[in-house]
Amino acid sequence: MSSDGKPKPRVAVFKFASCDGCQLSLLDAEEELLAVAGAVELAYFPEASRRMLKGPYDLGLVEGSITTHHDAERIQQVRRQCRVLITIGVCATAGGIQALRNWHEVGEFVRVVYANPDFIRTLKLSTPVAEHVPVDFELRGCPVNKYQLIELLAAYLSGRKPNIPTYSVCLECKRRGAVCVAVAGGTPCLGPVTQAGCGALCPAYRRGCYGCFGPMESANTPALVEQLRRLGSSDDEILRAFRSFSAWAWQFRQASERAERP
Ligand code: SF4
Ligand code: SF4
Repeated sequence: MSSDGKPKPRVAVFKFASCDGCQLSLLDAEEELLAVAGAVELAYFPEASRRMLKGPYDLGLVEGSITTHHDAERIQQVRRQCRVLITIGVCATAGGIQALRNWHEVGEFVRVVYANPDFIRTLKLSTPVAEHVPVDFELRGCPVNKYQLIELLAAYLSGRKPNIPTYSVCLECKRRGAVCVAVAGGTPCLGPVTQAGCGALCPAYRRGCYGCFGPMESANTPALVEQLRRLGSSDDEILRAFRSFSAWAWQFRQASERAERP
């Protein structure tokens, strides 16, 4: 029970195909999480606790993409159990780095990677959770920004809209006073089309943005591709730039596929 005598919201954290990095971001927010933990009941979080209470849950956080038939069935059950469902990280919101397989025949990878490929049952594509069930909010990033995660939980608890920016990394980059690697050094950078959230980490270390947070709200990828060509990038380099962490997000997918078939 919370201090006002109401039952605490029951929170569950689910994992699908992922590296656990986004759940670790949640655990990494130790101090802030303690305050949140006092306001919620962590009913199901196998990565953090042996206590696993059955649903229904008020809030479900989902990490990971859907890659197997079992995943596709389980996400339906998860959705039925959760009043509010939030996906966290680029695996869950865009299919993740494992979506790179989506452009090839998955059986080829299975044969190369596994000693006993006959035991492997997998879907052809790695897809975001929202392609399977309705999702209430998608939190981007690889991994997610822990402060954004805490903001999301705080917003949920107080019943308000989360304050998560949808503008581009360029804004964060200028705000921290980093020198533009594209203008000053001709380095390809996905910052103009990528959603903010990382604090422009890569440009601050003189590297182009890799697009870990996926496309921003109004990503103008054709304009960026033109600019990349002006900077001397080849079709292959443009394809590789977009075919990375957020490759299956449709705006980046279109850009890489156009570069593949110019
Ligand atoms: S989004 Fe990145 S950090 Fe999060 S689970 Fe997927 S691969 Fe790991
Ligand atoms: S370095 Fe990249 S993110 Fe920063 S302002 Fe230039 S294009 Fe934008």
